[in-house]
Amino acid sequence: MARYIGNKCKLCRREGMKLFLKGQRCFTDKCALSRRDYPPGVHAQKRSKVTDYGVRLREKQKLKRIYGVLERQFRLYFKEAERLKGNTGENLLMLLERRLDNVVLASGFALSRNHARQLINHGHFTINDKRVDIASFQVRPGDVLKPSNKEKTKKIVGDAVEVNKSQPVPAWLSVSGDAMEAKVNGIPRREDVPHPIQEQLIIELCSK
Ligand code: SF4
Repeated sequence: MARYIGNKCKLCRREGMKLFLKGQRCFTDKCALSRRDYPPGVHAQKRSKVTDYGVRLREKQKLKRIYGVLERQFRLYFKEAERLKGNTGENLLMLLERRLDNVVLASGFALSRNHARQLINHGHFTINDKRVDIASFQVRPGDVLKPSNKEKTKKIVGDAVEVNKSQPVPAWLSVSGDAMEAKVNGIPRREDVPHPIQEQLIIELCSK
């Protein structure tokens, strides 16, 4: 699946908030947003008036950028969210939260979302003891995520666990850093989503 390969800090500057796309660097004073807290581009600072459409568009872009999905894939998630029972906005967030790359990151087994994706693509993780190398794989309640048995994998994941040891783990996951194992306890709830997203604005934009 295609992915954005440009400058990630520019995305944060464009959205005017930290999207935490570069792992630990985002928590240091090397964060580009703390040094240049204005949108990228020569004339960006002169643009002032934001339309209702613009507000909604920014919210959608923010969500896509946080989870690292491009427009085409986002549209598929939106369609699926509409098809499912319940609130479309919440369904959309739940689908994104349940992506395997998000679960690897939330469990502290990778340093950033891109790192999680790379490890998955290279076959470093198993779900219920079966290798899964698709970053968009949807985890289900009861699934158990583990690194593969290779020494190299254990070293990479162990290092990430050490770096992320103070990171809070969402309630819908049970993580054992020592055993390097994460279990999916249930479907994430709206309050488990850690990002400041106003999904209603996205629904208003995409339902048209
Ligand atoms: Fe965003 Fe992280 Fe870059 Fe800061 S360091 S601008 S939070 S990607």
